[in-house]
Amino acid sequence: MQPARRRGFVDNALMSERTIPIVDHRYASSVPRVPAQAPAAGGLLTDRLGRSLHDLRISITDRCNFRCRYCMPREIFDGNYEFLRHSDLLSFEEIERLARVFVGLGVRKLRLTGGEPLLRRGVEDLVAMLAAIRSDDGEPIELTMTTNASLLARKAAALKAAGLHRVTVSLDAIDDALFRRINDADFHVSAVLDGIAAAQAAGLNPVKVNMVVQRGVNDHQIEPMVEHFRGSGAVLRFIEFMDVGNTNGWRMDQVLPSAEVVARIAARHALHALQPAAPGETAERWALDDGSLEFGAISSVTQPFCRDCNRARLSMEGKLYLCLFASHGHDVRALLRGDAQQGVAAVDDDALRAALALVWGERDDRYSELRGLAPHGAEERRVEMSYIGG
Ligand code: SF4
Repeated sequence: MQPARRRGFVDNALMSERTIPIVDHRYASSVPRVPAQAPAAGGLLTDRLGRSLHDLRISITDRCNFRCRYCMPREIFDGNYEFLRHSDLLSFEEIERLARVFVGLGVRKLRLTGGEPLLRRGVEDLVAMLAAIRSDDGEPIELTMTTNASLLARKAAALKAAGLHRVTVSLDAIDDALFRRINDADFHVSAVLDGIAAAQAAGLNPVKVNMVVQRGVNDHQIEPMVEHFRGSGAVLRFIEFMDVGNTNGWRMDQVLPSAEVVARIAARHALHALQPAAPGETAERWALDDGSLEFGAISSVTQPFCRDCNRARLSMEGKLYLCLFASHGHDVRALLRGDAQQGVAAVDDDALRAALALVWGERDDRYSELRGLAPHGAEERRVEMSYIGG
């Protein structure tokens, strides 16, 4: 476990009156066990609840140029905060190696996240390395990125040329003053819209636009977001505000249920439901009857979808998490590099594959389904969203 980075308190005033104790920002982990026997190639790998592994989300930096209060509140992620050293981050070669091994275990979709992934220098080179990976039957792997889009206008064409397929952009309000308050870093909506336009022009389509809806903070932006993105070709997605991490001061009464989001849009527009586009898809899909907009509602709190959850998350320093709300990571970097302090030797690809298969095979996470059973705050400390990308 990393040493504690900072101790203190934050008063998260925009979202909550209560004071939140911050203990530290790095997380407990253990080195995965390497079994003697590697899993048979091509066999279906499932976890204890029968879920296969399909998506790998790879966080490539712990830095972000926004300070959204639900993710990186300025009081904590300030000038004194110790971000990871570059040598702690997985190198592009290490990320590519891990992604290749994961693809061998069934992963068919890679998503780059952060922090803000476009802040990692040379990210286009990493995209090109990942775009060259093929499944055992020679198929390319879906390659996407989640970004705040502040640098996207500059980078979209190069990302597309490097082999990126799509981007998902986070945008919590279309009102500029509110958006600047939410990102707490004075970034204008126009910069994000320019990024979306550049992504569309580059062919990173369909661009998805994610809005985390917080009751009383930005829920009045649902209808203006719909009006703005009608006819744009972008897909809007409304996400229930979740209790990710420990620093965002989450309370159930801040959650606007997706059903209410859909009802508000239906009050203005005729709608119809769409079929899921992929197995394990998190969004319930809808479209306006006039064909001007597709949108999704992600009910992570009110209608958990753990049953189909096929995602693993890799942190920028090589810890693997099996759930967005995990409190414990698997230190894969130790297997890549070896770690004398932990008495671990570096392993080859076969051993790595066997160790990762064992980790997934023992997975039984289903936090959202269990959320209501324990009083909030009574659980172990969970990983922060900025550490594994939402
Ligand atoms: S709570 Fe965990 S297991 Fe459930 S859907 Fe979210 S990430 Fe998957």
